Amino acid sequence: MANRKYIVGNWKMNGLRAQLADIAVIAAIAANHEGVDVGICPPATLIGPAAQANPEFAIGAQDCHFAESGAHTGCLSAAMLKEAGATYSIVGHSERRADQQESDAEVKAKAEAAHAAGMGAIICVGETEEERDAGQAIEMVTIQLARSFPAKANAEWLTIAYEPIWAIGTGRVPEASDVAEMHAAIRKKLGELMGQGSDAVRILYGGSMNGGNAAELLAIPNVDGGLVGGASLTAAKFGPIIEAAAQS
Ligand code: PEP
Repeated sequence: MANRKYIVGNWKMNGLRAQLADIAVIAAIAANHEGVDVGICPPATLIGPAAQANPEFAIGAQDCHFAESGAHTGCLSAAMLKEAGATYSIVGHSERRADQQESDAEVKAKAEAAHAAGMGAIICVGETEEERDAGQAIEMVTIQLARSFPAKANAEWLTIAYEPIWAIGTGRVPEASDVAEMHAAIRKKLGELMGQGSDAVRILYGGSMNGGNAAELLAIPNVDGGLVGGASLTAAKFGPIIEAAAQS
């Protein structure tokens, strides 16, 4: 049986209080599409106000620290983010893996910290263009998944996002057959890593998804939703993706 679709917007370092109006409209669109799970991960500064203004809507964090507390200037623990109103956190986004040199071991610890705090986690994995051109994409991504994979994983709190790095923010999208092949490989690896229950873990596609290509991407087997950057920043752009998920 196909999993319920899940569409998550990653606002990255975008959004001031003025943009809370867009979250309110997106939350209203989501409420009108009960068959789809929808969320927005705004910058941490907007988690509290967004969650307070939209109590029925799933606000998430873009990252969390793996430690519970301590001398980590500028970082936020999972418990802090949860208290602010986040119910899940993205971990291991390729921009953080590159900019902050986050390792697979850290990503695994972050996912476990999110779970320990009572939140969900969306673990991002994806290959570089060089790895794809070298025919190593599936090997690299499944190794990354295995090394980033948290203890006590189950579909209640864990989601995987496959995001080819070369497709993020570029307007380029892989061939449908390549997405299908990768999502099938991730599904198989999830089976090896967790056995029973792995089919229910949702695998999102991320990388230049928009209102024009969402229907095709969401129709691919094992694509259970999307992690969306640029096209999640306004309700006008994100709404059609939610609509496509509802119809898929
Ligand atoms: C992302 O950064 O998670 C992402 C998918 O970005 P975009 O949709 O802009 O490619």
